[in-house]
Amino acid sequence: MTQYSRLIFFGPPGAGKGTQAKMLSKECEIPHIATGDILREAIAQQTEVGQKAQAYVEKGELVPDEVLAELIRNRLQQPDAQSGWILDGFPRTLKQAQFLDQLLSELNSSYDLVIYLDVPDEILMERLLGRGRQDDTEETIRRRLDVFYNQTAELIDFYQQRNHFLQINGNRPLPEVTQQIKTAMQEGN
Ligand code: ADP
Repeated sequence: MTQYSRLIFFGPPGAGKGTQAKMLSKECEIPHIATGDILREAIAQQTEVGQKAQAYVEKGELVPDEVLAELIRNRLQQPDAQSGWILDGFPRTLKQAQFLDQLLSELNSSYDLVIYLDVPDEILMERLLGRGRQDDTEETIRRRLDVFYNQTAELIDFYQQRNHFLQINGNRPLPEVTQQIKTAMQEGN
């Protein structure tokens, strides 16, 4: 099957990127590369990356671009990432997006589809407080939403100007959102 299999998911915290990405990853047998999960794991293990990232993650701030660049460079070169991937939580800044373009061209690769999951703030807050992850206190959630609008939202323009950008209303039942993403992936057939 030659459907689109190199996907970038982005959107505010709580938009449902992780949930959708996990499902599609299983179904399409492509790795789900969630930088937040990778960083939390690194923190739990207290690896070098984990130690560098910890203070930022705990405050809801962005971890420095260099740390993420290294992490993504390594991850995209793993054997399981050669036939596709879903990037969830990266890129999150313009610098990261430019780095990703450059990295993919170095690797003779590219992305197929950018999916922006759009959900209103008041719904996000409700969802995130309900989720109860360790970095999901009301204060860090507010900070992560601010960070999204101040540092990540400019990626909407960056990717919208190109082909293969899809904005999806994430404030709908999960299966409807999944279906819309799958339909877009089929366009790669
Ligand atoms: P959420 O879905 O709530 O945004 P994530 O699990 O994606 O949460 O990210 C959790 C935290 O990990 C972020 O608040 C940030 O500190 C760090 N992080 C994840 N991805 C990146 C990235 N691409 N750049 C910088 N920091 C990141």
